[in-house]
Amino acid sequence: MNELMRELQEIITQEGPISLERYMSLALSHPRYGYYATREPFGAAGDFVTAPEISQMFGELIGLWAAEVWRLCGAQEPIRMVELGPGRGTLMADALRALRSVRGRANAIEVHLVETSPRLTDIQRQTLGAFELPVSWHASIAEIPAGAAIFIANEFFDALPVQHFVRTENGWCERAVGLDGKRKLAFGLRPYAAEEIRLTAPEGSVLELSAEARHIMRAVAARIASEGGALLAIDYGHTQTQCGETLQAMRSNRFVDPLDAPGECDLTAHVDFAALARAVEAAGARVHGPVTQAAFLSALGIAERARMLKRNANPAQGEAIDVALTRLTDCATPTGMGQLFKAMAVTQTDMRAIPGFPR
Ligand code: SAH
Repeated sequence: MNELMRELQEIITQEGPISLERYMSLALSHPRYGYYATREPFGAAGDFVTAPEISQMFGELIGLWAAEVWRLCGAQEPIRMVELGPGRGTLMADALRALRSVRGRANAIEVHLVETSPRLTDIQRQTLGAFELPVSWHASIAEIPAGAAIFIANEFFDALPVQHFVRTENGWCERAVGLDGKRKLAFGLRPYAAEEIRLTAPEGSVLELSAEARHIMRAVAARIASEGGALLAIDYGHTQTQCGETLQAMRSNRFVDPLDAPGECDLTAHVDFAALARAVEAAGARVHGPVTQAAFLSALGIAERARMLKRNANPAQGEAIDVALTRLTDCATPTGMGQLFKAMAVTQTDMRAIPGFPR
């Protein structure tokens, strides 16, 4: 039994079953035993592969996107690049290289990373050290200095805890995590005064909500509305709020039971882009998209970028570039990220068109 399991047993014994949201939050972000604090999640040897780890093209195109959006905003230097949940820092490194290639090295760039894992912070420090740019780390977006900024969030919102509400004959109940007869973690239900759920749904329906995702999106959007800049969020998810549960646990690129070995597997849920869009609009900002990752990357010219890279590549490297291009944009096969992943942007309301998003 792992340490976090012991701690959870103690909490549940003392306080009773805890919400799924609290379970997920402890499993992912417990400062000592949480997943991001202890594990190396990324890459073929890790638990999952993210787009920036598949190919440098992904971060480079986002860097060029940021340069153009900054120009359209008419904002002053320094260009303030903020990333939420930067992982290994790969996306930011690729983006900074591309940004410098179009803006010139002399342009002032300031980097802000919002990260909760000390272990990943160390890796990010190593990845970004060579750029000789001011980089600062923050525990939350509230700490980022005022002014226009470009916010990037790739596979960030899917890592935030969700609540599950289950429709029963007695109305909506909340899914909770308790202990069974053998003191193993088990799902249960508890009553919940869910006035905010106005949805009518048949018995057995599950509604998945992330209060934290909505809260963070609303705060970033409010900031963009008043200070300028933009946010680009890329994640897997759906474009309509609908019943159904998508909580999943991954370990070594395989699906596992989310209650097994807490802190040792990655827990995520699909992002509800419609809920995020409502949070943006409530904050007085404009939503662009969501569009599929395939459409977004194609509009930014990923095919041309791949062709360019292949000109200087040997045959093996050329093949790797093709494989990466397919993985990032393919819409037809289960491993393709083109269709399931969506891109959504946020700007001030007067900015009608930005690269990557059709008007
Ligand atoms: N963007 C990266 C990593 C995605 S994994 C990539 O595409 O490869 C999710 C990242 O979000 C990790 O860096 C994790 O430590 C961070 N994270 C999770 N919850 C967070 C929170 N509440 N605040 C800030 N960062 C968080």
